[in-house]
Amino acid sequence: MFAVGHMSLAYLLGKGSGKLVGVKPNVALLMVVSILPDIDIVFDFLTGSQIHRGPTHSIIVAFLAFIPLLIIYRKKAIPYFLALISHPLIGDFFIGGHLQLFWPLSTTEFGLHELGYLFIDIFSPINITLELILFVFAMLVLYKSKDWKVFFKADRTNLILIIPVATVLLPSTVGYPFTESLLLSEPLLALAHLVYLALFVIAILKSLSLLYKRLAKHDTSQF
Ligand SMILES: [Zn+2]
Repeated sequence: MFAVGHMSLAYLLGKGSGKLVGVKPNVALLMVVSILPDIDIVFDFLTGSQIHRGPTHSIIVAFLAFIPLLIIYRKKAIPYFLALISHPLIGDFFIGGHLQLFWPLSTTEFGLHELGYLFIDIFSPINITLELILFVFAMLVLYKSKDWKVFFKADRTNLILIIPVATVLLPSTVGYPFTESLLLSEPLLALAHLVYLALFVIAILKSLSLLYKRLAKHDTSQF
């Protein structure tokens, strides 16, 4: 699944689970956590290795990483945990597969196809439609709940949005790791990428400008 699908799914799951357990998750953090497994794409690019859909997509690694967070933050950590495991267990499981879900215990690859069902490629119309539906739902909830406002506020937490912009949103819109730009191959999905890119860039610039102003005044306590 592309970043648009992962982030939309994680936002909807995080928002829903937050309501159920009575916590209000940070929207930017939910979206960033949901694309963290795909950091392995950058690792492969930099080192020439081929670990994509390996250790960073393991639910054992996700669970181990979250044990201390669940102990410290308890139910507050639940929406973020769901955002993280929705990436391999829902998004990539149905789309593409080839996931080492139980690394390091096993390097066997899992997915819908590996279970004997059809193989859904990331560029298949099924996935493109699915990602667009998730995107529209996420945008509706973002609008209805007024969560969109968080991207127009200066907040240092929003600086973490640099991670999805640099690692997945911008590269996949331009082309990497595919053969051509999404703008050419899937213009509608590229548009959804550009919407997230615009929101994130606004949030980053707003937060950076406030940080700069505070630093200029030697006062970061309010930021
Ligand atoms: Zn992935």
